[in-house]
Amino acid sequence: MMNPTNEISVSFSEYLRERSTRLDKHLSGGIPDYAFAADYATRQKIAAIPGVFKLGKALTSQIVPRQRQLLNMQALRVGPNQFPEIYKMVTECASLLGIGVPSVFVMPEVATINAYAYATEDAEPVIVLNSALVERLTPREIKAVIGHECGHIHNNHGIYNILAELIINGIGLLIPGAREILAAISLPLRTAILTWGRAAEITCDRAGIICCGEAESTISTHAKFVSGGLLSGQETNIEALLEQYDTLRTSPVRLLELISTHPAGVRRILAAKEFMNSQVYYDWHPEQKTGGAVYYSKQELDSRCAKYVSVTKNQER
Ligand SMILES: [Zn+2]
Repeated sequence: MMNPTNEISVSFSEYLRERSTRLDKHLSGGIPDYAFAADYATRQKIAAIPGVFKLGKALTSQIVPRQRQLLNMQALRVGPNQFPEIYKMVTECASLLGIGVPSVFVMPEVATINAYAYATEDAEPVIVLNSALVERLTPREIKAVIGHECGHIHNNHGIYNILAELIINGIGLLIPGAREILAAISLPLRTAILTWGRAAEITCDRAGIICCGEAESTISTHAKFVSGGLLSGQETNIEALLEQYDTLRTSPVRLLELISTHPAGVRRILAAKEFMNSQVYYDWHPEQKTGGAVYYSKQELDSRCAKYVSVTKNQER
């Protein structure tokens, strides 16, 4: 009788080769194919300013190891025996995107639904989920958030995310030298870092959508962020929420967003919907392609998203 496993390659090196061919297909010049063009273009400009990269690196090398120790003391670590369902999501997202499995902690924070990642090239990356988020999001929505945070790691956002946090809420100010670093960041540079930060969120929403294989979970997560994660989540309506964009688009209040690290939720919902019409999405999920459908090129996708995300351009939807 024939051994059925003869037909299947069980060699580990064969597995690694197939995996790296699959992942290489999604990289161009080391940049993930789904990355929002404005994310890399703005970051290049910031990185070209002498000293910025060094400042960011000095900050992260101090903050990340310290945060890790604090989390270990104050939060629950996700693993095969603690939040196993979340652990499974993390391993699935990391493997799909081709990054190492990051550590994940659930932080006792019941008032705000939030999640964030600490990532540097030197230290093992960490993802933090507030307990409110774990409680109030559905498993699919939690996966969208984890995919999003893995996107920050996959795109090496760490250093710049920390600079943005330093500007907005003074994270790490107690660390020696941080005050001087903050003082050295000029107003145009602050604006550039925050503009970059909002573009980076679009890149990462796309990572979350790729990990879930659908955009609905990312969209409903944004609605929950806007509503504060009301437990009666059935009251939110995406169409009604999008109508708020029409008002935001034409109001001068929108300029407040210039000093925010994240785009307004409605902008992100519009950008997520656009991603589902793009060729890039179907390169990751060819099984979902329908015959005859025409998808946006990457360039077209990015220029449409840029208009939604830009605080000044404000595309009609
Ligand atoms: Zn983010």
